[in-house]
Amino acid sequence: MAKLLGINLDHSRPKGGSFIFLKPDSDIFTAYDLTEDQRMIRDTLKDFMANEVLPQTVRIESKEWDVTRNLLLKLGELGVLGIEVPEQYGGQNLDKTTAAILAEELGWQGSFACTVLADTGIGMLPIVLFGNEEQKNRFLPSIVSGKIIGAYSLTESGAGSDAKAITTKAVLREDGRAYQLNGEKIFVTNGRLADFYILFAKVGDDREITAFIVEREFPGVEVGNEEHKMGILGSSTTSVSLFNVSVPVENILGRVGEGFSIAMNTLNLGRFKLGAACLGGSRQIFYEALKYSRERKQFQVPIDTFGSIRKKLCQIAALIYGIESMVYRTAGLLDKAVSEVDLGNSRATMEAIREYAGECSIVKVWCSESNYQNAVANVEIHGGNGFMKDYSAERHLRDSVINMIFEGTNSINRLLLVKEFLKKFGMGLISEKEKMWKETTSVSPFEATNDVVLRLCTQLEGAKKVFIIVSGLIMKKFGFTLSENDNQEAVILLADCLINLYVLDSALAVYVKHRKEKDQYLTRYLFHLILPVLERDVMSLVVLGSEADQYRDAFADIRPLLSYEPENVLNLNKKITENF
Ligand SMILES: Cc1cc2nc3c(=O)[nH]c(=O)nc-3n(C[C@H](O)[C@H](O)[C@H](O)COP(=O)(O)OP(=O)(O)OC[C@H]3O[C@@H](n4cnc5c(N)ncnc54)[C@H](O)[C@@H]3O)c2cc1C
Repeated sequence: MAKLLGINLDHSRPKGGSFIFLKPDSDIFTAYDLTEDQRMIRDTLKDFMANEVLPQTVRIESKEWDVTRNLLLKLGELGVLGIEVPEQYGGQNLDKTTAAILAEELGWQGSFACTVLADTGIGMLPIVLFGNEEQKNRFLPSIVSGKIIGAYSLTESGAGSDAKAITTKAVLREDGRAYQLNGEKIFVTNGRLADFYILFAKVGDDREITAFIVEREFPGVEVGNEEHKMGILGSSTTSVSLFNVSVPVENILGRVGEGFSIAMNTLNLGRFKLGAACLGGSRQIFYEALKYSRERKQFQVPIDTFGSIRKKLCQIAALIYGIESMVYRTAGLLDKAVSEVDLGNSRATMEAIREYAGECSIVKVWCSESNYQNAVANVEIHGGNGFMKDYSAERHLRDSVINMIFEGTNSINRLLLVKEFLKKFGMGLISEKEKMWKETTSVSPFEATNDVVLRLCTQLEGAKKVFIIVSGLIMKKFGFTLSENDNQEAVILLADCLINLYVLDSALAVYVKHRKEKDQYLTRYLFHLILPVLERDVMSLVVLGSEADQYRDAFADIRPLLSYEPENVLNLNKKITENF
């Protein structure tokens, strides 16, 4: 494993966050590496989405829940609801890559994706990972067949980002056989459809949270009206109120007091799959944008002949390539990690996934924001029609917004991913900074080269080194105060750098591994788009990390490592569009 510096990364697989310290040509898993079986499942799902789901979009969006339920039953027949479920409970016991394929293909219809991912993701996975034998036998086979539907209920009116502030109470009855639950959950995806809720409450006066499986038919469970939302109109979102609901002790998930860990660990995979769903969403957007721009004529020519439209299409294509690169890279990391633990050891599986919590947050943030940008570009390409309900461009835009809000807002995910990174490497960064700083002063300025891979690798390596130096600088100056609310601007900048480095690293690694010409152009487009932003952000961090009068000296030292070179965008875009 080629390393950039001395932090010990020797491990059978890369440690979470270690991409920062590795040479940018490391071997990663890519969408080209899918197995025959994975491709077959993908093709089956493509057919299913095209023939069964998309034609039902109007009815799904009109909240005809029977349509959604029937589609879930059909997915059950296809066997894909049990991708992440062990075989003894009726599942397929397949890998996270296949789970990503499911999310990607579902992403072609935002509302339906939301329903299925809340059901088999954050609704069902807590039972797979933390349920006991009896709970697994009771719930999993019915979820896998699509006969029952799950939901995840954490949020309350006073507890959103601050999930620990929930006030739903669980009191153990005197006979010790059940807990009595009171409280109100809001914004529950699948609220109306669900047969059970993975619901989080505080036991007695505990500060800690406990997870319960609350069944819809328990007396005292009341489902509120559908929320009037901006998007994902065909996904049910309601409140769930609990009035003296008796929940048998057998329905405690995991241990009493373990709920927060269950809630957060469930979200790691949820965030990763949300990114994969954004890939499908963006593919659908690209397909529609391209079709429209080829058919629509103005000034007697199709609008796709205008460079301005071409630029938008190229940007969508490049962002899709970036999303795909990081989603499948992360899938590969998760699969490797999970394959190293004993089959059936759920807690070890959870720990293995946790190793890449930072990457899961990165995927969630970048994919959701790129998907949103793509949706905006699609509306623009559609002109006035983009604003009309007759076309789906406006729906994609409305649907794309929620991905930046749920499963932890993107701001919260930015804070989390930096925390993960610093927890692993924080102290190492300070000492490495000193060493690297000395090396940096002897680095000669970047030399122009016609070798594309060499150029991109050098640019990325330089950006990584500067990021390591700068984050060491920030750690030294702020120390533990970095986590204070008042210093969040610095953390957000660190997060943006980490996110952008992961995208560029993943995109370049895909190209280096498979050397497809079209990927070279898309990678270069991403570098052209992102590298200047990255360089600006590390410079901003230098200002934050230096004493007032010293940052200019620091600039002079690290500048030789920053080597953004503008592209000839006219030529580059033409090359990209040749492959459409
Ligand atoms: C359609 C929909 C479906 C949902 N589905 C579910 C579901 O199935 N289950 C479930 O439990 N929840 C669900 N949610 C809830 C969702 O996860 C929360 O809305 C989200 O976590 C944000 O919480 P909040 O709305 O209370 O916003 P707040 O926490 O009030 O945040 C408001 C703003 O402040 C920022 N902010 C808050 N705290 C900080 C901080 N410490 N530092 C910096 N910025 C901060 C946020 O980033 C945000 O920009 C859903 C929400 C929606 C809209």
